[in-house]
Amino acid sequence: MARIGVLALQGDFEKHSLMIEQLGHQAVAVKKKEHLSGCDRLIMPGGESTAILKLIDRLGMRDTLEKFIAGHPVMGTCAGLIMLARQADRLPVPPFAAIDILVQRNAYGRQIDSFIDRIDVDFDGCNKQMEAVFIRAPKIVALGPEVRVMARHKQDVVLARQKHIMVASFHPELTEDGALHDFFINKL
Ligand code: GLN
Repeated sequence: MARIGVLALQGDFEKHSLMIEQLGHQAVAVKKKEHLSGCDRLIMPGGESTAILKLIDRLGMRDTLEKFIAGHPVMGTCAGLIMLARQADRLPVPPFAAIDILVQRNAYGRQIDSFIDRIDVDFDGCNKQMEAVFIRAPKIVALGPEVRVMARHKQDVVLARQKHIMVASFHPELTEDGALHDFFINKL
């Protein structure tokens, strides 16, 4: 059984924890830096990236998170994708630059422009259809040569990984399908 930390400062962290538990693993709500010790992996959830980044700095968690991200598998969803990106627009503090992507925040419009659609995911050569929920989602507008595309929606890359970092512009925790969490926990 793996211990999966879920950054729990703001946003949609509880649904991630439920999914981890449904898959038979332990979820740890990471509210301060001490909570990261003993975690095998970390999920950075959706929410408001500006608020979460400010809280990380206010709580003095940045250095610990940076070290953790350098050495453990991390999945970022929506706001989590923004926080792991090399660069994103209109952030009060720099993101963690753990994956070589350039991100445009809120690129699909406002809350009412949120949508659900099916995407084809490439799980290391094994393809699977998934339902993807996009809520004020960011867009990956450029990616570096090390980044592997795992899924697109229309032309846009919506799921990608670079070594042990995986990012989704949608919310995998809001469907019943645990395939992405399972891949993150067992294969990344
Ligand atoms: N629009 C949010 C941001 O820029 C992300 C939205 C989400 O996580 N659902 O942080």
